[in-house]
Amino acid sequence: MYYYAFSRYLKQRFRTKVRRVSLNAGFSCPHRDGTPGRRGCIFCNELGFSRFAGKDISLREQIKSSITGARKRHAAEKFIAYFQNATNTNAEPEKLRSAYDTIKEFPEIVGLCISTRPDCVDEEKLDLIAGYTDYYEVWVEYGLQTVHDRTLETVNRGHTFSQSVSAIEKTAGKGIKVGVHVILGLPGESREDMVTTAEKISGLPVSGVKLHVLHVLKDTELERLYGRGEISLLSRDEYVKVACDFLENLRPDCVILRLVSDAKKEYLVAPGWINDKALVIRQIEAEFEARGTRQGMGLIVKR
Ligand code: SF4
Repeated sequence: MYYYAFSRYLKQRFRTKVRRVSLNAGFSCPHRDGTPGRRGCIFCNELGFSRFAGKDISLREQIKSSITGARKRHAAEKFIAYFQNATNTNAEPEKLRSAYDTIKEFPEIVGLCISTRPDCVDEEKLDLIAGYTDYYEVWVEYGLQTVHDRTLETVNRGHTFSQSVSAIEKTAGKGIKVGVHVILGLPGESREDMVTTAEKISGLPVSGVKLHVLHVLKDTELERLYGRGEISLLSRDEYVKVACDFLENLRPDCVILRLVSDAKKEYLVAPGWINDKALVIRQIEAEFEARGTRQGMGLIVKR
């Protein structure tokens, strides 16, 4: 057990096989629709999100179809509804409630997970989400990406690290589990910068981390930069090493929601290796074995 895998957490928590089902509730992103900006993050192509991205299918139908698929493919018995596409708190509370309430029609759903931006929550929205914690396992996932403001600016995130800290603290304070997304290999970041991100997250009330490797999707600003040779990407071996460095410096009780991102083939420009997730995971485990370390060990050594 080199890291605290989400699958292990779910097994401990629910004593049965639980899978997330990714949904597109049709919310837009304020970073694209005018507040606070219109360009979006340089790496984002919203069509690259869940399999329902860009499709006009009701939430009810999405849930039904995903549950049927996950039952067949993974023998899953319970499900977490994952509102994944774009910014899932970007609407008036009543509209949000109506979307989230769809899960009540499915008794096999035991959890609600809402992906959003740290600058798109307020007390009212968080109170609404906290209301589901009486019946469901509830997570809010924030796109934190890095703790370094200069990088947030480079990738045009449109928010600062301190905005993330504020959202994380308010959310956790309401009894909602907080997950954060982190991208390794962002432009201009060194190994030390990424380790600092792990250390700072460890000091926050964060329950889980989802790791991504910087990858280039079609029709993004990042694709243009990559095409002009202005950014470089991590090789698989580099990612394996830096992911281990990161995890060694992350609290051991922080669940790893995902160890490496993948991308839809039709949108992925580079690096191609990210879609062989099983190999990357095996290599990370082999690297931990060779180092004789595991998640959180770096923090213990520094104390
Ligand atoms: S990555 Fe998220 S926050 Fe950034 S533009 Fe895309 S949907 Fe919006």
